[in-house]
Amino acid sequence: MKKKKMVSSVAAVLLCTSLVSPSFAANSPNGNLNNENSELPVSGFTNHAEMTKKLKQIEKASQGRVSVDVAGYSHNGLEIFQARVGEGDRVVMIESEIHGNEKTGTEALLNILQYLGSSNSPEAQKIREEITLVVLPKMNPDASELNRRANDLTWGEVVEAYPSLSGVAPAWNYYTRTLQDVDYSKRPGFDVNRDFNPDLNYTPQPEDFPGTSSDPGWYITPESQTVRDVYKSLKEEFGKVEVFIDLHHQGQYYVEGTDDLVTMSLSGQFVPKPNSPEGSKYAEYADNYNYDFSRQLNVAAYNALQSIGNSPFNNITLYQQDLDLPGTALGSFALNGSGTVLFEVRGQTWTMGQKKKGQLVKAVETGLNAIISGVANESVYELNPEEYEDIPATSYSPGL
Ligand SMILES: [Zn+2]
Repeated sequence: MKKKKMVSSVAAVLLCTSLVSPSFAANSPNGNLNNENSELPVSGFTNHAEMTKKLKQIEKASQGRVSVDVAGYSHNGLEIFQARVGEGDRVVMIESEIHGNEKTGTEALLNILQYLGSSNSPEAQKIREEITLVVLPKMNPDASELNRRANDLTWGEVVEAYPSLSGVAPAWNYYTRTLQDVDYSKRPGFDVNRDFNPDLNYTPQPEDFPGTSSDPGWYITPESQTVRDVYKSLKEEFGKVEVFIDLHHQGQYYVEGTDDLVTMSLSGQFVPKPNSPEGSKYAEYADNYNYDFSRQLNVAAYNALQSIGNSPFNNITLYQQDLDLPGTALGSFALNGSGTVLFEVRGQTWTMGQKKKGQLVKAVETGLNAIISGVANESVYELNPEEYEDIPATSYSPGL
């Protein structure tokens, strides 16, 4: 096996949190996002109605430990739920399915809620005492029901809501073409994970359109507005949101220098440091931004997965670094002072068998549990952030 360092800086278009270009779907050799199985039903994953039922069951069985509320509604009127457990003064906020075809995170969140709602173990009690966990599973339910990346909203409907945008070019993250095998021409939508803005009070201004990937978003989608409102109210209640985690899927990649498939990639880097020359446009956020804490959280998740032993769970890499994506929820909330973690699970859900699904949900759960308990028992604050740099990089071809 010859170690060959493959690019991890130029292939941005392949990555989930980058805009997927039209050529990606056609040309990706190992992205696994364009395949003949895409017409298969999404078997084994919880849909919105099932999740609603499950959340109510968890709430009922928890005897008051878990509360489930409607935080807002999708454009099509589906509930965006928030579930809350614990009474600690540090908040861990987690969302799943901001991209509706990236589903393992929701399953992991339901398992964690069930455990924290019903377990009397010392560990669960400690977590409930020390932190408040707020989760928004399936935060983009219209996309989830359509099993696609973007929500279900037209530019015309946005202009109706914000008449001052009449005559400006539609947002750059508005899909009307075919992408990931989904034809958006009849039912267009927005990549909600580019609609965030570090200014939590921002309102859409015509001069800020169409924007680019390195510009903030606008909170023009009801889904991003809902998450922003939850974030703001937690900030008001607790002073800050200690941790924010976003759960995604990516294509099929390799652990750098090997031919091992990546099970999951992690990251704590979404915008350049506000006190660096590249990040000077974010200077007003410099006092909030805590990159070392984000790195510690990532190290906690990585270590827990490594400790499972020789298994697919060891194949964990760092996601692409040196990003500048202020329109992502992670980028915006990192600038507001939250420790931030991205989970990118391998593969698209429609290609997943039951066994693989179970493994990947377990990987997500393991990483999340490590962060939750590490914040609760404060061990995460003792980790060396520099260990983050030792997590292997992601390659786009096997290192044969
Ligand atoms: Zn994603």
